[in-house]
Amino acid sequence: MESWEKILSESITTAGALSSLFEINKDEIQRVIAEYPLTINPYYLGLIQCKGDGIYKQAVPDIREITEHQGLEDPLDEEALSPVPGLTHKYPDRVLLLVSGRCAMYCRFCNRKRKVGQPAMVTRQTVREGLSYIRANREIRDVLLSGGDPLLLPDQELFGLLTELRAIPHVEIIRIGTRIPCSLPQRVTLGLADMLKGFHPLYINTHFNHPLEITPEASLACARLADAGIPLGCQTVLLKGVNDDPAVMRELMQKLLLIRVRPYYLFQADLAKGTSHFWTPLKKGIEIMSALQGHTSGLCVPTFMIDIPSGGGKVPITPEYVLGEDHGEILIRNYQGEVYSYPVL
Ligand SMILES: *Cc1c(COP(=O)(O)O)cnc(C)c1O
Ligand code: SF4
Repeated sequence: MESWEKILSESITTAGALSSLFEINKDEIQRVIAEYPLTINPYYLGLIQCKGDGIYKQAVPDIREITEHQGLEDPLDEEALSPVPGLTHKYPDRVLLLVSGRCAMYCRFCNRKRKVGQPAMVTRQTVREGLSYIRANREIRDVLLSGGDPLLLPDQELFGLLTELRAIPHVEIIRIGTRIPCSLPQRVTLGLADMLKGFHPLYINTHFNHPLEITPEASLACARLADAGIPLGCQTVLLKGVNDDPAVMRELMQKLLLIRVRPYYLFQADLAKGTSHFWTPLKKGIEIMSALQGHTSGLCVPTFMIDIPSGGGKVPITPEYVLGEDHGEILIRNYQGEVYSYPVL
């Protein structure tokens, strides 16, 4: 089997290379990637079945990234909530720490597209300062490693980082947010899984958006992590033209369970500048949640979350099941829309 480093080194990164594969406007793509980098590794590229499908839209640049100006550079106000660069402390007991600036594929809808792929995003210095901040703040019991993709770090570097984190007595939980099991599953070697197993309790939240991403390779990667005792969750992003359809979403959620990944969050796409062509009305997410809840196993049902712009934080949005009160009874509808009454008590 080819090494993941080799696969990654053969990525498409230029408009020229892309134009030899798809009929695209090379000049337009060139202008887009001058602003937001392009990387599509051969594995993820191979998932595209036809131009414009749900895989293509996630990976191939679109001129609207630079011609539509709605949205914010930093939609979640992460910079303002950063006591040190690369660390966001928004909730009382947990922080987000950026540990890698690179990804195995640059998602066109990324909410950090202002900085992914740029060398200054994460440096040895920012990671060192982040660790010092965590060490000095004893209320932090949960550290979420993110980026960029933490699993693009070499094993040795990741080992060093996890060792330093585990040496901090008040850090109870370590989480890794990574798209690797989806975008470059070959990276999940037996050696990596074996190394990660030494840092429990360790949780991984991965990121799948479309049923075509659930492949034998992705399945093997997730099996290796699950066999190492790592609970796997999924943070899916709701994206127009990719998965904004109840049937597609249901298939994705059901397939995730088959590869031992438990859906965690379904995110309303963040209002990041350059991504407005992916946005869906809030109603769409509610419709999709209604089509999941009760219609399939509860294990397949994530929490639909909106991350409020300007640092308001994550808020769950649920379809309305409580319809009101009538003569001392609460009116509740079930998943089929039948209305029942339940005593107020
Ligand atoms: C999402 C997020 C977390 C983790 O939130 P959970 O709801 O606990 O998964 C932590 N910090 C920041 C800044 C986040 O954006
Ligand atoms: S893998 Fe995550 S951080 Fe990287 S481009 Fe995709 S969404 Fe952004």
